Amino acid sequence: MSFHHPDDALLMSYAAGSVRIPQAMVVAVHLCFCHECRSSLKKLNHLGGLMLNAITPASIQDDDFENLMQKIESEPSISQDVAHKNQHPQDNAVAWFKPLQRYFPHKANEIVWQRQTSSISKFDLSSLVKVPGFKVALQKINAGTKVPTHTHKGTEYTVVLQGGFSDELGVYHAGDFIERDSSHKHTPQALQNENCICLTVLNAPLQFTGWQRIFNPFLS
Ligand SMILES: [Zn+2]
Repeated sequence: MSFHHPDDALLMSYAAGSVRIPQAMVVAVHLCFCHECRSSLKKLNHLGGLMLNAITPASIQDDDFENLMQKIESEPSISQDVAHKNQHPQDNAVAWFKPLQRYFPHKANEIVWQRQTSSISKFDLSSLVKVPGFKVALQKINAGTKVPTHTHKGTEYTVVLQGGFSDELGVYHAGDFIERDSSHKHTPQALQNENCICLTVLNAPLQFTGWQRIFNPFLS
């Protein structure tokens, strides 16, 4: 069960297909864990269908239709079906991998981690996801480790995949969805009992504060 969810506006944008791929990835992974948001998404999709039925069709030129179809087919997509098919909480450890699978050259248990400090590693997906302006990575933080205090230039989306962490605003476990922006300064710390693995999406670099600025080249 998740206690921290995407806000209504983000879930609505996801349902409408108007979020960018990295944002869709974090929402899709959260949906693998969260029955509540899957249920909300189902209602939003139903509502979207009713709205489409209610609007008056407009005629378009054949060229416009072909251009539109080419654009749709050329855009990679995160299938909402992925989240719907994984209804059982015990499947979560495998389920969260499915929305990400197309971007991995490896299986989930074959990820080659890039060590950043003795207790923090990452697997950078940005060059595989290829959406300009976004950084996408798995972060692994050893049990009990503190990440240096930082704020954000833009927005940071995080979904906990394994273990958990805490910061000044709460405690987060597998499946929880966290959104932070420039108004938040936080010092995440992995929970003591298990290494924490998160999927993190950033649309601008982290801003480390104090002496921890030295970490910037490693973690941003
Ligand atoms: Zn949720």
